[in-house]
Amino acid sequence: MSQHDVIIIGAGFSGMYQLYTLRDQLGFDALVIEAGDDVGGTWYWNRYPGARVDIQSIEYSYSFSEELQQEWDWTERYSAQPEIRAYAEHVADRFDLRRDILFGTRVTALDWDESATEWTVTTADGQTRTARFVIAATGCLSVPSRPRFAGMDDFEGDLYWTSEYPQGTDLSGKRVAVIGTGSSGLQVITAVAPEVADLTVFQRTPSYAIPAHNEPADARLAAVRPDYESFREASRASLLGFQCVEGAIPVLELTEDAARVELDSAWAEGGLCLNTRFPDAGTDPAANAVVAEYARGQIRAKVTDPVVAEKLSPRTYPIGSKRMCVDTGYYETYNRPNVHLVDLRETPIERFTPTGIATMSGDYAFDVIIMATGFDAMTGALNAIDIRAGGQRLADKWAHGPRTYLGLMSHGFPNLFTVTGPQSPSVLSNMMTSIEFHVEWIADTLKYLRENDIQRIEPDLDAEDNWVRTNNDLANLTLMPQAASWYMGANIPGKEQVFLPFVGGVGLYRQVVQGMTLNHHGFELA
Ligand code: FAD
Repeated sequence: MSQHDVIIIGAGFSGMYQLYTLRDQLGFDALVIEAGDDVGGTWYWNRYPGARVDIQSIEYSYSFSEELQQEWDWTERYSAQPEIRAYAEHVADRFDLRRDILFGTRVTALDWDESATEWTVTTADGQTRTARFVIAATGCLSVPSRPRFAGMDDFEGDLYWTSEYPQGTDLSGKRVAVIGTGSSGLQVITAVAPEVADLTVFQRTPSYAIPAHNEPADARLAAVRPDYESFREASRASLLGFQCVEGAIPVLELTEDAARVELDSAWAEGGLCLNTRFPDAGTDPAANAVVAEYARGQIRAKVTDPVVAEKLSPRTYPIGSKRMCVDTGYYETYNRPNVHLVDLRETPIERFTPTGIATMSGDYAFDVIIMATGFDAMTGALNAIDIRAGGQRLADKWAHGPRTYLGLMSHGFPNLFTVTGPQSPSVLSNMMTSIEFHVEWIADTLKYLRENDIQRIEPDLDAEDNWVRTNNDLANLTLMPQAASWYMGANIPGKEQVFLPFVGGVGLYRQVVQGMTLNHHGFELA
């Protein structure tokens, strides 16, 4: 049985940087265990047509190496998956990360041995390893949600999941269905529509999509490169971990014309910054309704068939309470003669058939069905591992929603850290900003423990209870819990519905964590 100081689970952007901090900067013996066959995590797995970032690449990138950010050239404002994956591979090469990553290996269990003060890590091949510390860099959107429809196995065409999309497929001339209209769905729909003979989109809940206004990255790169660090500092202090105009005047205090000017400006800028223009958009239903109606007006302006435009217009949840999408011509796709929309609220899917899909309104024939049905977000990958300590399973402890201190650790599970765990800003932020903060916090903590000859760290139960309460209270002050979203776990049957990320913003969260963990407040050290 091999022994390590630290085992890191996952070789996405979190695990890669964690390895670099612990091995290269601090000299720990660290091993990464990764289920996939190479680095990149999300960007290794999600290879569907149109996969692309929804946060600008100059923001959605590592800031820890000045040389890296000076030398890496982004070609587009919003890079496509192959470029992000190439970036991950470049980072792995540049810092020689792969030699300490065990690929193609899934961690199945973690067992805490109190007397030895170490974790036993079991992998799917039956091997065990031990480590004093384990860091779950397992990803917030790494376990696909796989809804089952009656007759699914009978379908004789090709069935693809966006998160495991086969390479080298050619959809030209094919009759294609896409199920799901979240971010991945929108991207794949927009990308394949011009290529296929016929595309039918099955939509349960429409998303709001804001234009990307994608373009070459050169000018923006040239502007930030002379002082990338100040640019990054501003992102770290921001609400979302990337730079948006954060307006101070409530939309309800503006005249209609003044509100329109702000909204037009946000729309022209594009991306995920619409709600941040107004401090009341996320908390006051009337303010939110102003922004939502503006966005629906944009849909009506783009989609020529008013019936289709209405079906594409979200009306059942506040704007921003489900993840908004960033699009490149999504709504215009529905003006194409080969694209059709099926509203599943009117005509639900009854079953799959050998030739396609049967709904209450009729049968559809397809060569290919693409499932863009999302993920078991934030807790899925952690609960998939059988994590046990002191006779307790983490999945049982979290059965009614995750319980963490600062989104970083959970009481009863010593020496186990989570990168961008539940109850941290995580998926409500530019994940790169959040990943770097957590990775550095964990590295600083392990350094402190080593320097002070401390073997064990565990959050206090009281501190954890307070943090859970704070998260829930904060979320309930906003409109966020009003949507049946994956932020709430609502897309997974049987999952307790609790708002999963910390809603107070990246800048505030950093201040709180830095303040509260001075002198390791809220932790028991031994
Ligand atoms: P991941 O990239 O998910 O990596 C986790 C890794 O852990 C995976 O490779 C997985 O195989 C491995 N793993 C999990 N469990 C185990 C186990 N038990 N044993 C072994 N290995 C395991 N965020 C943004 O901020 N901006 C974006 O534009 C953006 N776009 C996205 C687009 C898509 C399609 C998706 C799915 C997510 C997107 N995200 C985006 C979120 C994205 O997940 C994060 O930005 C980031 O890539 C997460 O990095 P990570 O290393 O924490 O997790």
